[in-house]
Amino acid sequence: MNKIVEGVLVFFGICLALLGAIFLIAGSIENVIIGAVLLLIAFVMFFFVYRIEKIEATKPTQIQQTFNVKMDGSGTFDAREMKCKSCGAPITAKDLTVIQGGISAKCSFCGAIFAMEEAPKW
Ligand SMILES: [Zn+2]
Repeated sequence: MNKIVEGVLVFFGICLALLGAIFLIAGSIENVIIGAVLLLIAFVMFFFVYRIEKIEATKPTQIQQTFNVKMDGSGTFDAREMKCKSCGAPITAKDLTVIQGGISAKCSFCGAIFAMEEAPKW
């Protein structure tokens, strides 16, 4: 949508600038004033196109970059999931034992042994 607006603005801007230049060259005082006004309008149009270009250039690329951050759970365990099921004490990595693909945890606080609900993908 902005490309169409830009194209129209640039087209009219060039037309006005050329017309303004012709008036300026023509010489008489009224013509110079008309020419100056036309050039001014053309300048404002070019300024708007410049602003649209600037907004378009800054917006979309930066948003895409922030979403490219990938979550990889290799080797690390979500700390919020690691709590003792009997006392609620936090379970550290050294309390974990791998048994046939599953994870068993021994609470270092109360000594309870339980299986973790989700086995991490190492
Ligand atoms: Zn415990």
